[in-house]
Amino acid sequence: MLIVMKADATEREIEGVVRVVKELGLRPHPIAGANRTAVAVTGNTGPVDPSRFENLPGVADAVRVTKPYKLVTLDLRPEKTIVRVGDAAIGGDELAIIAGPCAVESRAQAFAVAEAVRRSGARFFRGGAFKPRTSPYAFQGLGEEGLKILADVRVAYGLKIVTEAVDEHGVDLVERYGDVLQIGARNMQNFALLKRAGRSPLPVLLKRGPAATLDEWLLAAEYVMAEGNYNVILCERGVRTFAQHARNTLDLAAVPAARRLSHLPLVVDPSHGTGHNYMVAPLARAGVAVGADGLLIEVHDQPERALSDGAQSLTPEQYEQLVAEVRAIHEVIAPAPVG
Ligand code: PEP
Ligand code: MN
Repeated sequence: MLIVMKADATEREIEGVVRVVKELGLRPHPIAGANRTAVAVTGNTGPVDPSRFENLPGVADAVRVTKPYKLVTLDLRPEKTIVRVGDAAIGGDELAIIAGPCAVESRAQAFAVAEAVRRSGARFFRGGAFKPRTSPYAFQGLGEEGLKILADVRVAYGLKIVTEAVDEHGVDLVERYGDVLQIGARNMQNFALLKRAGRSPLPVLLKRGPAATLDEWLLAAEYVMAEGNYNVILCERGVRTFAQHARNTLDLAAVPAARRLSHLPLVVDPSHGTGHNYMVAPLARAGVAVGADGLLIEVHDQPERALSDGAQSLTPEQYEQLVAEVRAIHEVIAPAPVG
């Protein structure tokens, strides 16, 4: 159920609708748009009767939602969501650049990379302290020690920290040290983790699962939002296909496809999306050209010595050159039309 308020509906009228939804034992999600507020209703297992709401003061319309998602959809919010992280944002006019090493390996490494990231004018620093690795014998990340290094990077360079939690306890820790909580591709359907992320005050960067359809990805975002956290950023990072020339197949068609359905901002990750240093810049440029709100890029000061994902990491010089190129592309393309 979606209750669309009149453009001139008052706060009291919106609160009135919220109260009635709660009285019915359902959950109201009031979302303000540029021209009107809409209240999505979740928690119902069967259809809700629209006539219960349509005569309440300030209500323009009450409509049944037939799509499987109620909160990620443009029906709820026709304008793109801008996720604000302090004085930085993802989904606004500025191209968001999230850059840093795959994993935090040491203070020296994190600071060397952060120096280049800051110099490029990017606002977000990435780095994993908890690494989801295919092999149990591979470097698993520094854990809380890595988060402390990230928190120091934040203070030293004024960068916002984007970092992954692989379990619910990890979310507690990321909330203590980070600014944006990353949910990794392999955890896209870890529903307990998604629900925990939905109760977090931090925005959530939700990577697409390696074999997830667009609907599954959007429903994963819906899990987070259904818990009351509306600050979700989608991240296309490639899916598994028969292609063997790249680590994953970066599905750039997912960018306009997601934009057609959802108001959530979307960033492209050409690092995991290709797995090869030489492919990162061309696919990053393409990602911006196709309408992404930002890029997630792995950078390492010594890629040949990286403890994870060295083959896809850019050197600081390659990275800085790329940022100049993608900014130029972003300037010439019109803001991606909604719908
Ligand atoms: C990462 O960002 O380093 C990472 C592990 O990404 P993904 O979950 O997309 O594999
Ligand atoms: Mn990585």
